[in-house]
Amino acid sequence: MQPVYNLHNHTPFSDGAYTIDELCEAHLDLGTPVTGIGISDHLFCTPSSREVKSERDYGRIFGGEKRDYVAEVREARQRWSGKLEILCGAEVNWPLNKPMLSALTGMLDGIDYLLFEFVDWAGLTTLANQARRFPCPIGLAHTEVGVQFPNTSMDQVVRTLANARIFYEISSKFLPLSPNDPWFKTVPNHRVRVTLGTDTHDDLEVLKTLPTLAEYAEQVGLGEKILIPAVRDAEAVST
Ligand SMILES: [Zn+2]
Ligand SMILES: [Zn+2]
Repeated sequence: MQPVYNLHNHTPFSDGAYTIDELCEAHLDLGTPVTGIGISDHLFCTPSSREVKSERDYGRIFGGEKRDYVAEVREARQRWSGKLEILCGAEVNWPLNKPMLSALTGMLDGIDYLLFEFVDWAGLTTLANQARRFPCPIGLAHTEVGVQFPNTSMDQVVRTLANARIFYEISSKFLPLSPNDPWFKTVPNHRVRVTLGTDTHDDLEVLKTLPTLAEYAEQVGLGEKILIPAVRDAEAVST
């Protein structure tokens, strides 16, 4: 069994109900070993944020927000050092941020990985073309391929992810998952990395699905494909 990381958790920094410390304690209380967790609050244009008219506005408003966020996660990382690894991710709303993609790629110091949500097929092709401009791994959050890309074959989706090195999140929202799920029969045949995520907001019960996700990944042959993003500490210091 691979080390287990839950890379999708929200805190009160965006719309989560539990602090980083509470999330850490809840993961350690699960009774199954968890090596690390990723905090992935909604950053940059979130629905509650004020309207942004230019890249300059965007940089000013969300640059400060991101700095505060990275500082908070880094402090927690130090507090929990030796007990639980803490990664600093973020979740980005694709439709709201797609006009600001070039500004976004320059604002990611201290961010270890990005989860994109609500990506449609046009969005995935754009992201794939721009993937190399991101300084950290990028991936798709809770994406049901048949629903989000209804007019694209699974083969085309999986090849796009593989070529662009965009990772794919195995989400608690997919449960129950069949070992014969056509998408999860396809993914292991390609060089696509996967992550596990519970999208924790206001219910810690969802963490109990984490072992099921980890077992499922092993069962369908994705255990070796699990991505553990590296901590980009050095860059965080320079911001
Ligand atoms: Zn949320
Ligand atoms: Zn989320």
